[in-house]
Amino acid sequence: MKVSVIGTGYVGLVSGVCLAEKGHHVICVDSDAGKVERIGRGIPPIFENGLQPLLRKHIGGALQATTDLRRAVLDTDLSLIAVGTPFDGSEIDLRFIREVARQIGEALHQKKGYHLVVVKSTVVPGTTDEVVLPILEQASGKKAGPDFGVGMNPEFLTEGEAVGDFMYPDRIVLGGIDDKSIAKLEELYSGFEGVDRIRTNPKTAEMIKYASNSLLATMISFSNEIGNLGAALGGIDVLDVMRGVHLSNYLSVRMNDGSRKNPGIVSFLAAGCGFGGSCLPKDVKALVAHGHKAGLPMSLLNSVLQVNEHQPERIIALLKKHHASLRGVRVAVLGLSFRPDTNDMRESPAIPVLRSLATEGASLKAYDPAAREEAREIFRGDSVRICDDLQETIADADAIVLVTRWNEFQRVPDLVNGRTPPPLVVDGRRMLDKKNFVRYEGIGL
Ligand code: NAD
Repeated sequence: MKVSVIGTGYVGLVSGVCLAEKGHHVICVDSDAGKVERIGRGIPPIFENGLQPLLRKHIGGALQATTDLRRAVLDTDLSLIAVGTPFDGSEIDLRFIREVARQIGEALHQKKGYHLVVVKSTVVPGTTDEVVLPILEQASGKKAGPDFGVGMNPEFLTEGEAVGDFMYPDRIVLGGIDDKSIAKLEELYSGFEGVDRIRTNPKTAEMIKYASNSLLATMISFSNEIGNLGAALGGIDVLDVMRGVHLSNYLSVRMNDGSRKNPGIVSFLAAGCGFGGSCLPKDVKALVAHGHKAGLPMSLLNSVLQVNEHQPERIIALLKKHHASLRGVRVAVLGLSFRPDTNDMRESPAIPVLRSLATEGASLKAYDPAAREEAREIFRGDSVRICDDLQETIADADAIVLVTRWNEFQRVPDLVNGRTPPPLVVDGRRMLDKKNFVRYEGIGL
């Protein structure tokens, strides 16, 4: 199939590259000429495991990159919209979606033959039917249904594991305004045999994505609330509490050899310094705002957000147990991306942690295996030194704060072993064994 993908961010580029690997002819479109130029040279603008080799394999062959959206739509049978849908503080910002829908519509005006337009971006329920479809009709002068199809196909990839998630999806949601739109979408995913599919209308497809992310966010805030209460009561370790919860038959399967197998959801039932990233915070906020518009209080998801907002403060409180004032205290912050294996710092808990520490007057160094460039941009002009090496970052630290669960940080016990005076280790992810440290504090301990 000939496919155009509009927007070459995490979702668009990964989708484009993987669809080329599945045998489609793909044209990736972005309005950012710099990104297009890099992609054309086989250099992904984002860090994502396994992406570069696949991009190099297909670019110039089954995969093209361009800024020319009109040409891309005219030369393909199906367009996936994968532009950003940020939260503007009060509701989802559909500016990029509207603009792309208008441009696709204008191209459709000149196009003979059927074309399917599919929203892949995360958009609040109703957007495809009530915003995208009317813009397409108006700009093209054609009728959705007989002249062109409209679909909604949410993406569930996790940054850091995006290529694997796309190539081996857990589910495929095919939302369409009619049978023909869904049939065309089926064709796009014909190479994904054996994957469970949900065929539905666009509004339900949109809601599936929000319901999925809201559940994960709820699990995290639930675990953090339990951890915070345990810490306030004293004598309770949230690690043991959550292990006890995970062993419930509802959350683990007993194998024939007596071992237990936990479904992936239990990795979200863990206390830490809060959820971040480009999806969970923004999606829950957008759904809450959308619910308010519909006259619902959205009490549960409001609380999920509130717990999350306050979670980075826990790190500061743990440091203050040992240093009444943080002025001049040398603090090394480890982990800046919102999760391991990505350089994405959008809404990372590391940002409020570092900003609070800076306000308190701490002397700051920070390190991340992948997000140093992004961090230098974010903290430009601030008093945070972004280091290139783990050892250098923690060498003279009075306190080491772990914010992201990168594997490399397993080296910390060896690196501080025998140091006098011993640094304080504040483990925001409960990833290190407290027995390895003289001075240790952890979330929910
Ligand atoms: P992103 O911000 O990384 O990328 C969006 C791209 O769209 C940018 O490269 C931008 O230049 C381009 N763009 C904007 N306007 C354009 C236009 N008019 N024409 C062409 N290109 C244009 O976004 P992302 O993280 O890939 O997310 C895209 C959507 O997918 C969002 O709705 C997001 O919520 C959703 N989503 C993201 C993830 C994730 O893990 N990042 C996972 C699932 C779903």
